[in-house]
Amino acid sequence: MSMLYQRVAFIGLGLIASSMAHALRRGGLAGATAGTARSAETRAIARDIGLVDRVYDTATEAVQGADLVVLCVPVGAMEDVAREIAPHLQPGATVTDVGSVKQAVIDAVAPHMPDGVHFIPGHPLAGTEHSGPRAGFAELFDNRWCILTPQESCDPDALARLEQLWRGMGANVDLMDAPHHDLVLAVTSPTPQLIAYTMVGVADDLRRVTDSEVIKYSAAGFRDFTRIAASDPTMWRDVFLTNKEATLEILGRFTEELFALQRAIRQGDGALLHDYFTRTRAIRRGIIDAGQDTDAPDFGRVRH
Ligand code: NAP
Repeated sequence: MSMLYQRVAFIGLGLIASSMAHALRRGGLAGATAGTARSAETRAIARDIGLVDRVYDTATEAVQGADLVVLCVPVGAMEDVAREIAPHLQPGATVTDVGSVKQAVIDAVAPHMPDGVHFIPGHPLAGTEHSGPRAGFAELFDNRWCILTPQESCDPDALARLEQLWRGMGANVDLMDAPHHDLVLAVTSPTPQLIAYTMVGVADDLRRVTDSEVIKYSAAGFRDFTRIAASDPTMWRDVFLTNKEATLEILGRFTEELFALQRAIRQGDGALLHDYFTRTRAIRRGIIDAGQDTDAPDFGRVRH
């Protein structure tokens, strides 16, 4: 894979930006990399570990001369960043983002983009429950999907180059419109997230009764909820606040299903429960067949 951009600038140096920086390096996809983060602490760590070629104290300095700028901050911070960098963007540059919600990011960023700058929103469907500049690794995007939600007026060459970049970082690329993205993703990401928060919250409330037994016996399904529920609180707060409608729609459906299962349990309707669980098992099979998770028992966890 050859170099696609002369200079890539990251605004925000957390899990996603650091993984992209490693993946760019692995693929030789960028001539030079630059970055900045909000806190001096994060910038110091990034300098220390040589995450990008040059770490700047401000976003305005970081974007100077960049032909690709990647906004890697929480969704709620996108507008302030866009406003700050807009006057310093190089004509012809592409600006993209990695936010987990797309319509709200378009509303926040697009109005600030100067003529001649290509804004192409994006969302890599890959992550872990870890945050910060040390959390990234080059393989994060391998065989995962990155969804781009270009607007109709998007420049085809700029779009093709960004698609190539994501492929170079190991990802598969899909294009869709932003509202569709927000609805589809509400099913796969925020709603399970909220359910995990609730489940872990219920266990926490019960702790008084169970003492530390919830933790001690957590190798049951509960443990898998705790991984999701340990994700970055700022990121997820912003996702719920900015993808309200789609999340509420999916949660409404979830509540109906939950009531149906509750009734089946109360009425001893074993056939309904068995059919339901058979259907969900097939979905897990589909995810494995699509190469999106491992077939190993217990997700391939190593026993200590
Ligand atoms: P992260 O590890 O928490 O890093 C966030 C970065 O943004 C940090 O460098 C932080 O700087 C900076 N930042 C936070 N608030 C800011 C503000 N108000 N102004 C300027 N900079 C600010 O987060 P991440 O997981 O990489 O997530 C970044 C984006 O990727 C989010 O929009 C998220 O929705 C999206 N995303 C995340 C995942 C995931 O699983 N984590 C997956 C796909 C997409 P400091 O360190 O100095 O505070």
